[in-house]
Amino acid sequence: MSETIYGFIGLGNMGGPMAGRLLDAGHVLHVTDSDPAVMQRLVARGAVAHDSAQSVGDSADVVFLSLPDGKVVQSVLSGEHGLARSSRAKCVVDLSTIGPAAAQRAFEILAEQGIEYVDAPVSGGVTGAERGTLAVMVACLPARYEALTQVLGNFGKLFYLGAQAGQAQVMKLANNLLSATAVAITSEAMALGVKAGLDASVMIDVINAGSGRNSATMEKFPRAVLTGTFDVGFAARLAHKDVRLCLEEAERNGVPMVVGSSVREMLVMTTAIRGQNADYSDVARVVEDWAGVKVRAKS
Ligand code: NAD
Repeated sequence: MSETIYGFIGLGNMGGPMAGRLLDAGHVLHVTDSDPAVMQRLVARGAVAHDSAQSVGDSADVVFLSLPDGKVVQSVLSGEHGLARSSRAKCVVDLSTIGPAAAQRAFEILAEQGIEYVDAPVSGGVTGAERGTLAVMVACLPARYEALTQVLGNFGKLFYLGAQAGQAQVMKLANNLLSATAVAITSEAMALGVKAGLDASVMIDVINAGSGRNSATMEKFPRAVLTGTFDVGFAARLAHKDVRLCLEEAERNGVPMVVGSSVREMLVMTTAIRGQNADYSDVARVVEDWAGVKVRAKS
């Protein structure tokens, strides 16, 4: 049996390290990204550069996507030099967070060309992408899942969510609602404690030994807020996209999102105040400025 050749489109905060892991595992990798600088980093490690998605799909059997949102995914699939026109690709594995409706649309666009779409969003951040410890949520036909388990294992732990494209997206949106809520509410709790005179590091230690423990107190705050680096590596605008998609899905299903709506507004505000490049952890900075306090470890 001939070797499967892989492609990777979207080499940003998540795609870059994931593509790097495929190279480290010894795979031949054909890549493209609209930003030449990020592509160059992968080419320096042995990847083959292309100037369009179609060209990647002309060279690879299975193509991974790690793109910002559903609109970009759709243009990469069905644009002028899109993947749907390529001659070789038989399967597209979408690691992006785009929501169930966009995943279903992507599935249909590719099905018309006889290309399988695999809905496979990931969670675990840049560190998880670098270390290969992501949660990889997969929805596709069982036989395709079996065929992909080895290569997807390079990214982390796999979870099968069923055959229907979009089901893995629903799982991912529920996860990110929790992640964003943890960031927002931890920002408020920490600002309160520090303003009232508590030490930020002691607070984090107490919370992580107690019942307030969450993904923000365990990872994001110690690493990016207490240090003042604000570099989690996930754009606040992308987190807003995820919570917005989650709220749309909740509306469609008739599920209340009282807390989720407030979290969405915190993310909108963070991007409005701190700009398009604001980091996820900048939510804490917005609360800090509002409260007139800095949540930092004492040096
Ligand atoms: P990013 O903005 O760092 O990377 C996206 C990459 O796509 C960029 O390099 C950009 O140049 C490229 N791109 C944009 N349009 C393109 C096009 N038309 N053709 C080719 N390349 C194009 O974003 P990211 O943080 O790596 O996130 C990627 C996806 O993964 C998003 O859907 C995000 O929601 C999801 N995600 C992110 C994280 C995180 O912690 N950063 C975690 C889990 C999931």
